[in-house]
This record gives sequence, C-alpha cells and structure tokens, in this order.
Amino acid sequence: AFLEETVPLGRRVVVIGGGSVAYDVSRTAVRHEDLDVSRTALRQEGVREVSLCCLESLSEMPADPVEVHEGEEEGIRRFNRVGPVAIRLDEEGRVKEAVFQRVLSVFDDEGRFAPRFDPDDQLTLPADTVILAIGQAMDLSFLSPERDNVALTDRGLLQVDRETLATTNPKVFAAGDAAHGTRLMIDAIAGGKKAARSIYRTLTGRDLVPEQVEAHLVLERFGREKRYEAVPRQPIPTAPVDARLKRIDLQVETGYGPKEAAAEAGRCLDCGVNTIFDSERCILCGGCADVCPTLCLKLVPLDALSLDPGERAEHAGSAPGEVWSAIIKDEDRCIRCANCEMRCPVGAITMERYTFREEWRCPQTTG
Ligand code: SF4
Ligand code: SF4
Repeated sequence: AFLEETVPLGRRVVVIGGGSVAYDVSRTAVRHEDLDVSRTALRQEGVREVSLCCLESLSEMPADPVEVHEGEEEGIRRFNRVGPVAIRLDEEGRVKEAVFQRVLSVFDDEGRFAPRFDPDDQLTLPADTVILAIGQAMDLSFLSPERDNVALTDRGLLQVDRETLATTNPKVFAAGDAAHGTRLMIDAIAGGKKAARSIYRTLTGRDLVPEQVEAHLVLERFGREKRYEAVPRQPIPTAPVDARLKRIDLQVETGYGPKEAAAEAGRCLDCGVNTIFDSERCILCGGCADVCPTLCLKLVPLDALSLDPGERAEHAGSAPGEVWSAIIKDEDRCIRCANCEMRCPVGAITMERYTFREEWRCPQTTG
C-alpha cells in the first residue's frame, strides 16, 4: 500500500533480514501465489519459495519468536548466520541468484554489532526476487535545513537541545526517533511531553510545575488463587495454515475464547500491589523471609549493607556493640502472594495498591 503500486515477484524470493519486518515481508510474499490474479490468467505461477536469510543465529534474531514460529508453519525457509555477498544477474539483467558467506559471529565480546565472516564458506540461493528488510530510516525530505533553519546531525537526525528539545529553529521542537534515533516508543512519548512543556514555556514565558501524586490503598485480606504463579502461558489460537495462505486479509491470530482469556489474565502478578513494611512494628523475627516462596526477602546485619554514615544513622543507633539488622527485598522476584503479610505476627506488613505519577500543572498566576 505504501508503494501504491503492485510489485511483481518471481517464483523464488529471497528476503534479507532477521527482524519482524523481514518476517512481515516474507509472509506477505508467500501469500502471493494465490493473489497474483494477472499471472493466474496468464497461467503463470506465483511465488513458490521464500527464503529468509540473516546474520544472526536463531537465538540472536531480533524477530518476535511468534513470527518465526508462524513463518515456519507457512513454509518460510530460514537461513541463519549468513551474510550477503552478491546478487548475481543473468545475461538479460534479471536476478538469478543471491550469494551469502558464513557468519562466524555477529557481536564482539562487549556485545557490540561487529560481524565476522568466513569468505570461503559460501551459500548460493537461486532467486528471482531479492528483498532487503534490514532496517528503516526516516524520511525528512519535507524539511529544508536552509529554508527552515533546522540543522541535521551527522547521523541525519534533527539537532536538538537536550533540555528543551528545541531544534536550531527556536519555533520547531522534535522528539522521538527524529531527534534521538531508534529508541522505545515510551521514550518518544516522554520526549513528546517534554517538548510540549518547552512549547508552553516558549509561548507563555512560564514553566509548568511538576507535582508528585501518590496513592496507597491498603488491601485487607489480599490473596491469590492457588498455584496462580504456575499457570502456563496460553498459546494464542491461530487460523489454519491453508486458510492463511489463501487470503492475505485473513487475521492469523484468532484470539482467546473466554476460558483462555480468563486463564491468561489470571497469570498477571498484579505488580501494582506492593508489600509495605512498617519498620516501627517489625520485631525482626524473620518469619516473612521463611515463608517467601521466591526467597526474595532476606534478614541481614545492617553492617552488610553499603550505606553512607548519614543513612546508617537514620536507621540505627550509634551505641558501641549494638548490632542492627534489616530486611532487604529483591522486588523483581516478588510474586505478590501475600504469604509474608499473613505470616507477620505483629502486622508490620500490609499489601497495598500503590500508584505514583507525576503531573505537570500550570503555575498559579498572581495579581
Ligand atoms: S508477597 Fe510473597 S513473594 Fe512477595 S515478598 Fe511477600 S512472600 Fe515473598
Ligand atoms: S514477619 Fe513481620 S516482624 Fe517478622 S521480620 Fe517479617 S516484617 Fe518483621
């Protein structure tokens, strides 16, 4: 649709790339056999074979594993750890084959992208069409640095002030990939909000003021279903492969029925619920640590923690010979089972739904 024209494909399609877009391309190509009406009318065959070739091993591929699995079901041939060398043409200038060399490693010892190849170990795939799906780039052609006074960086991004996100044109602000390169969507949203605050300041001469909003809701008798933490992930039902390949507009994932949806929702650990400890009540009996199924609580001597003197003084007395203890918690491992709350003999632990957010408010105008 983006190209606004039909791209004719040959019988053998080679897609280069190991990400989800490469799978989108491959899975679209493999559906072309039944779609290409003009070829059918001419009694020509559509796409017969789609091969996806990438530098990474299966475990290194950035593609979503679901894409890999469903692509496999649809007959996409996958070649891992191969890097493109050449696309060879026949005497009439049409694509004939794609040549690859074996990849020895993709990343260096520090995890940086630095592929190494074995040029003597080659793979040649016959091909009529080769499609590159190796990345995306922004189209900033609507901007003219001279006309719009908007400078670009060496990487082709918009040059912005890191604090205000203003470009070199004080009336133009930028956030997201255009300003910082590829990052997460959540970064782009945060950048958009930051730029909006800068625009407010530019237009009004005033700063928005942040306000922290916290809410605690104590959950009496909080508990979870038995063995909720052991419920396996529910596979998402999909349409049969034959049907998928016949209709490009057929939704592959058909969605959960009520029973599977309830089972999947039941796996939620409800991380908005937290164990809140009241140090004034705690008698350091260690009971909570004893019953914690994930061993995320630990009773330790205070001296085992790296605290600066100010922090230590805040939590402990200073009399010589006194030994102080603390309970530490590995938050990542907590499954919100509430065992600790139920075990605590002095009610020092409560399960609380805790929310925290930052709100930006217009300053009060005076006079
Ligand atoms: S809620 Fe459960 S997992 Fe979390 S700290 Fe308490 S006992 Fe451990
Ligand atoms: S069970 Fe209660 S009193 Fe005992 S160590 Fe844990 S929080 Fe403290």
